[in-house]
Amino acid sequence: MSDCIFCKIARGEIPCRKVYEDDDVLAFHDIHPAAPVHFMLVPKLHIASLMQAEEAHAALLGKMLLLAPKLAKEQGLDNGFRTVINTGKGGGQEVFHLHIHVIGGGSLPPM
Ligand code: 5GP
Repeated sequence: MSDCIFCKIARGEIPCRKVYEDDDVLAFHDIHPAAPVHFMLVPKLHIASLMQAEEAHAALLGKMLLLAPKLAKEQGLDNGFRTVINTGKGGGQEVFHLHIHVIGGGSLPPM
């Protein structure tokens, strides 16, 4: 999507502090971190939210979930981390391009 901010980041049109990139996925630090480590995993394919995810995206979503602990460990989160996927306006989603927040490095309040 041409006007999607995470698509623009994925295309390199907006700079980011990159954590990881391959053909399918980009991970980058959140511009307003909620904890000492806070990055997001996004598919390069524009999927607006988890509500728009389909069976055809299963391998991509699985890949993102499996990447989360690997990248978290590389970022020093040996002791654990939180993953958050805000979905839709009712779920507090602000950027309508599916993303997994990976958050840690401090004491997180219970959910
Ligand atoms: P949401 O509320 O949609 O789950 O989270 C969107 C996240 O994207 C927010 O935590 C916000 O700080 C982050 N964000 C919004 N715009 C940018 C940007 O241009 N660059 C980066 N790195 N993060 C952004």
